[in-house]
Amino acid sequence: MIEKGNHTIVRYGTCTKDCYGSCVFKGIWNDKAREYKFLSAYPLKDHPFTNGFFCQKFNRRQELIYHSDRLKNPLIRTGSKHINSFKPINLKKAIDIISKKLIEIKERRDPTSILGAFYSGNSGLISMYAPLRFFGKLGATVTSGGICNEGGCAGLKKLFGTYSTTNPFQLNNPSTQLIVIWGSNLSENNIHAYFLVKKTVKSGTKLIVVDSRRTLIAEKAHTFLHIFPGTEYLLAKMIINELIVRKEYDENFLHKHVDSFSSIFLEVAKIDKKKLLSQIGINYQTFQDFIELLIQFKHHTLFNIGYGVQKDFYGGRIIITIALIQILLGNIGKPGTGLIYSQSDFLKPLISPLQNYIAQGESEFKIKEIPIIKLGSSLSSGNYEMLFIYNFNPASSLPNQNLLRRALSDKNLFTVVIDLFLNETTKYADIVIPAKFDLETDDFISGYYIPSLSVNIGGPCPYKDCMSNYEFFQRLAWKIGYENLGIFQESEKEIFNNCLNMLPSNVQEDINLRGYYLLFDNNSVPFNNLEFPTPNNQIQATGPHFEFGKKELNRKLTRKKNEFLLISPSHSHFLHSQLGQLNTKFIDEFNKVFLASEDIKTLDLEIGDKVHVSNEYGAKMYTLEESPILKPGTALIYSGISSTSEGFPNVNYFIPDEPEEMGFSGAYNSAIVEINKMH
Ligand code: SF4
Repeated sequence: MIEKGNHTIVRYGTCTKDCYGSCVFKGIWNDKAREYKFLSAYPLKDHPFTNGFFCQKFNRRQELIYHSDRLKNPLIRTGSKHINSFKPINLKKAIDIISKKLIEIKERRDPTSILGAFYSGNSGLISMYAPLRFFGKLGATVTSGGICNEGGCAGLKKLFGTYSTTNPFQLNNPSTQLIVIWGSNLSENNIHAYFLVKKTVKSGTKLIVVDSRRTLIAEKAHTFLHIFPGTEYLLAKMIINELIVRKEYDENFLHKHVDSFSSIFLEVAKIDKKKLLSQIGINYQTFQDFIELLIQFKHHTLFNIGYGVQKDFYGGRIIITIALIQILLGNIGKPGTGLIYSQSDFLKPLISPLQNYIAQGESEFKIKEIPIIKLGSSLSSGNYEMLFIYNFNPASSLPNQNLLRRALSDKNLFTVVIDLFLNETTKYADIVIPAKFDLETDDFISGYYIPSLSVNIGGPCPYKDCMSNYEFFQRLAWKIGYENLGIFQESEKEIFNNCLNMLPSNVQEDINLRGYYLLFDNNSVPFNNLEFPTPNNQIQATGPHFEFGKKELNRKLTRKKNEFLLISPSHSHFLHSQLGQLNTKFIDEFNKVFLASEDIKTLDLEIGDKVHVSNEYGAKMYTLEESPILKPGTALIYSGISSTSEGFPNVNYFIPDEPEEMGFSGAYNSAIVEINKMH
């Protein structure tokens, strides 16, 4: 914290919007101002990844902090559930009601019937894990797992013993001569990596893009493979077969570093190229161009794989098949090679002790857990009477919304939501607690694209009833008789300082000096000794790799002409259900279903028609729109309705809540929908 004069103070901050950037900035504050205390944010110019700029989504954060819709008082329900009908209530009264209810349920039933549901929301470690002190002491149940990239992480972990194997600064390593962007819309969702890729392409690196959407980065590629969604593993199979037939694999690498690699050879021995090409949706020449580049730049090729690819029932295995291409070519552990996916595993040794201390997880408590993706069916079981939701907007982001919302509507379920704004989830709350903004709390943020640990040095919040997650649960703990327990006596600031002191001195120094610590620099090549954290230090290639999903693939490939594979990416100006208050001019996009022009013609429809989108999970009405970037047979609806406005149906009504099989994350891109004209 630096005093700047004129009442202004500089504090380091990190954008906590659960995004690739984890942008670190200098926040300028005027603590003496009555309300608008946070004045502006300046992204760090010398940060080697974010390079001094924010994304288009969120470069006006001060407007969000003091937005007129921000919640400033606790609210208590006045109308029926499923609408945001509340009246303000005094904070003390709100805590009284919640604590009475909690004690009554705890004494009448098992405390496991009290459920804490949370996800990464505000990605701070204290924000996420400190409430576990409360749930642990109570003996309650909490959600576990995730809804995002966990399937792919599980797949890569099976191969390498870790899902983080490459430093993303390899994008700019002089040895990188070919970059393959596989299913990642960098130009909209990861603009800092996009910036690095554009820079390296300008200096001569070749670029291949594999995607079911013709994204902006696809336009810049030397070769673009516009594939049907869900056919990634077929493409991987064809590539591996071709490399084997042409004897272009790295035999020495396979023998030395890959356990059971022969199973890969057996599995791809017989393929029907013509059939596969038509299933994938590309021509032979495009495929050959890809192969030639892979061969030409063997040992100089880097893959960047997006999360959308694994949002499938078989997501982990799909990522494995893509990774096998790099393994076969020996493109691992050398400068300019590898697989960029999630880098958060690199941070585990650094942050695990912090997490344990913050959550007090290893002390006297054992918390019962349920998978977050199954929240709807768990609540439907009748096993829970009280629900706390923080860091999470499940009525927007979880699959099978009909099931979930039915469960949330149960009048016997007492629900407390802690949030900044009214949203889809608060529609089911009995009491809403106004949250502090991330920049108003002290916290650590661990990046997952760039392996970094950075901080928010909390500034003052002008609204006296707003609380951080920890402050709320601490106060509730005091109210129900835990006031003398040491774990509830520490302030958030003390927890933050204790965490900082637990970090190695070089990490502390970097954080104090510039607000962040980076695990790698441009020259770091993780696993260059090719020893992986597996039982024999080799990559584990035990198959089968390709014998899966036949039933699912057939379902995807043999659809009726009005059936479409549904994809639900986030919009370029939103982060799923966030930032709706800032980017209102794009809100109409959530009311639309997008199809390729060929499909609109085939169905004899017109742009602007009202169409009925349905499947076994739900049915909603949308306005039809054409998208020139889609592959025929694909329907696109943007995920995460961003506000509480009526008439914007959430795409997750159509998504099955059956999780991905390896990491139990969401199979968001596995749904098939029927589209019919409304009459
Ligand atoms: S949303 Fe992402 S890219 Fe945008 S400012 Fe935040 S961290 Fe950076």
